Amino acid sequence: MCSIIGYLGLNQAAPIIVKGLKRMEYRGYDSVGVATFTNKQILVRKGVGKVIEVNKTVRLDELSGTVGIGHTRWATHGMVTDANAHPHPSSSGEVAIVHNGIITNHEELKKDLQQKGYAFKSQTDSEVIANLLQYHYDKTRNIKQSMVNTVADLRGDYAFVAVFEDGTLSAARLHEPLLIGIGKEGYFISSDVLGFVEHTDEVIYLDNREFVIISSGGIQIFDFDSNPVHHQITKVSKEFADVYKGEFAHFTLKEISEQPRTIINAGNNTKLELDLATDFIRHAKTLYITGSGTSYNAALVAKFLFSKYAKIKIEPIISSEVHFSPDIFEQQSILIALSQSGESADVLEAVNIAKKAGAKIISIVNIMTSSLAQLSSISIGLGCGPEIGVAATKSFTAQLAILYKIVDKICEGAVGLDLTKVSEAIKKSLSDDSKIQEIAKKLKNVSDIYILGRGIHYPIALESSLKLKELTYIHAEGLPGGELKHGPLALMDSNTYVIMINPDDSTYSDTLTSAREIKARGAKVIGISDKPSDVYDYWVEIPKVDESMYPLVEIIPVQLLAYYAAVEKETDPDYPRNLAKSVTVK
Ligand code: GLU
Repeated sequence: MCSIIGYLGLNQAAPIIVKGLKRMEYRGYDSVGVATFTNKQILVRKGVGKVIEVNKTVRLDELSGTVGIGHTRWATHGMVTDANAHPHPSSSGEVAIVHNGIITNHEELKKDLQQKGYAFKSQTDSEVIANLLQYHYDKTRNIKQSMVNTVADLRGDYAFVAVFEDGTLSAARLHEPLLIGIGKEGYFISSDVLGFVEHTDEVIYLDNREFVIISSGGIQIFDFDSNPVHHQITKVSKEFADVYKGEFAHFTLKEISEQPRTIINAGNNTKLELDLATDFIRHAKTLYITGSGTSYNAALVAKFLFSKYAKIKIEPIISSEVHFSPDIFEQQSILIALSQSGESADVLEAVNIAKKAGAKIISIVNIMTSSLAQLSSISIGLGCGPEIGVAATKSFTAQLAILYKIVDKICEGAVGLDLTKVSEAIKKSLSDDSKIQEIAKKLKNVSDIYILGRGIHYPIALESSLKLKELTYIHAEGLPGGELKHGPLALMDSNTYVIMINPDDSTYSDTLTSAREIKARGAKVIGISDKPSDVYDYWVEIPKVDESMYPLVEIIPVQLLAYYAAVEKETDPDYPRNLAKSVTVK
């Protein structure tokens, strides 16, 4: 969660850091701060709000100095307040840190440091890192030794960057991402390549249990036992520079609109891996698929695809639940892990549990340099480009496209996969969204929305409800159509809106019957279908495609509806409250 960044170079650090933070804001965005080193002292400015807002009031970017660190926070310990915003200086001010993650033993460390005379100003777990570094630095006056001693004392998951009173930067990583950018005019250290990609595409990925010391003399990397480590420099793809909204009002709308292209591209850069994965799956003894949030909904779609077309049983399991049933995996199990970032803590934990039991991992992931990709036997790239909007859109359909490709390969074309046709259908849906905008206006003051679907459309109903929750803050619930009469019908009245995912396939007439039952209770019915019906108060037409392809097409109008309803409600669709894109904490 959150983003951290550091810069040491020839240029003023603060404007570079603020720009980098702005780009990484999707990772967490409740508060922001910058510290720079200048004239032998460390200056800190910070506050609650988004990067642009805070920068307007406290002018983060006007801090002087060519060395600095920055942070956008997603609070885990302590309220969202100015005092809890990072950077946190040590009590003497000789060190300041920014931190991503959670320090689990912060209470005991804090007590101990307070007894030794170190003062604390925040309620965060992170501030102990600053004072712990200071404590070890006071004892040794040696940055390397202070880092080694500090990481030995810390428990939990973290990536942190520290600036010292002599203008040196140092950063360490344990289960949170951290990479170094090597530019012509300076060094960068960041949670995400987006933090500095406009300055350099030369990158070193730090491994877990490593730290780096960056000074004007160069960079040195060590493991936590103080041994020097050498890493290759990797060139990252320039596509990551493509993170501007362009003509679009929001990233979310841009990303929804990219789907005609991204579903075609999905997996194309990792074709060999796709073939290999298919082979692995064919020979698996037991097959599981995991993910969190949207990725889990894609896993549920996969269950239908695998059983219907490939006649293979695959068990979807929510990543955060794997911890509580670790015994399901065995030797020769395969776990397919779905994640956009590849850094989701819950997914990584699920994967580690499965690996321990002897299972092999196939990941389907957007960031091919992520921890998840590194933990996997085979990794298939979504190839959909950076997804900045916190609510997943194009990564969902890219995940589905890859799962379709795998199943189609296994059953030798029985799916009738035709992504070009799907792409055309999505283009058509996107070309005129006026009806959807009109419905979005109606949803503005609605407090409950239900989304119904049967069979393979039920996971799409779940994904639809997730989009509506995330973007509009309206209570939304996805239901299997047949369950209506077993309880939820009691909730229907004239204040309720119900979306029916109802393409013209084998589920059509049953879902239409549910629509009539709902209508009879006075609720408003929105039909997402290629076939009109008098029962719909609003009919959102989707293009006709082959039966197997409907899920990829029917989610598009709901993504648009959630987006436009958010705009109507004046919430920020790119950065929903309380959420963050890459959930790297448990
Ligand atoms: N645990 C720290 C805090 O609550 C850091 C959270 C983050 O990763 O943003 O301040």
